[in-house]
Amino acid sequence: MSASVLVVEDEPQIQELVAVNLEHFGHRVRRAASAEEAEAAIRAALPDVVVLDWMLPGESGLSFARRLRGDARTRDLPILMLTARAMEHDKISGLEAGADDYLTKPFSPKELAARIKAILRRRAPQLSGDAVEVEGLRLDPASHRVSAGEQRLYLSPAEFRLLHFLMTHRGRVYSRAQLLDQVWGDHVYVEERTVDVHIRRLRKSLEPSGHDRLIDTVRGAGYGLQAA
Ligand code: CA
Repeated sequence: MSASVLVVEDEPQIQELVAVNLEHFGHRVRRAASAEEAEAAIRAALPDVVVLDWMLPGESGLSFARRLRGDARTRDLPILMLTARAMEHDKISGLEAGADDYLTKPFSPKELAARIKAILRRRAPQLSGDAVEVEGLRLDPASHRVSAGEQRLYLSPAEFRLLHFLMTHRGRVYSRAQLLDQVWGDHVYVEERTVDVHIRRLRKSLEPSGHDRLIDTVRGAGYGLQAA
């Protein structure tokens, strides 16, 4: 499983340790030393998960986590909080601020990687590498194959990622900006019309087997894949 991880940690040695270890486990890592830097990094491209230190210069990790949860674009962004404190009430305030999980320093690199994997399994199933199937439409990320029944379908890389995301997030509607963030990794430099173009192509590819009807267009809101 390879994810883009934003590491927000002001202590250079710990930042280095965390970043190098996550890279070792196959993740793509960006780094920030403050909430302000992290905010700029997230504005440029939405990561798959944020490793967020509690004690930061300026705005605390806790306050930043709360702000991420309050913003529509980052509301669902998985957050793993790091802290030197081991007190139970801090853990509770971290989780109340919206952190998905919590790791107390010092921790082993293996444990960090395992926690991130667990968060992504839960919150970003499109990164897990597991095959998904919806009403005879099957997508296998490992072999990069899509089939409808016995019929193999050939999709472009963008359509493949788009379908994978929609299939692993059924029953929800995503705006064009959200899909750009999730599928293209960038909502700033790609035009929202791009999403419409790829949805159209994807529907065309799914049309022969009738699976195009699974994709919902919600006027004024965006796109989604029908719930089971
Ligand atoms: Ca710190």
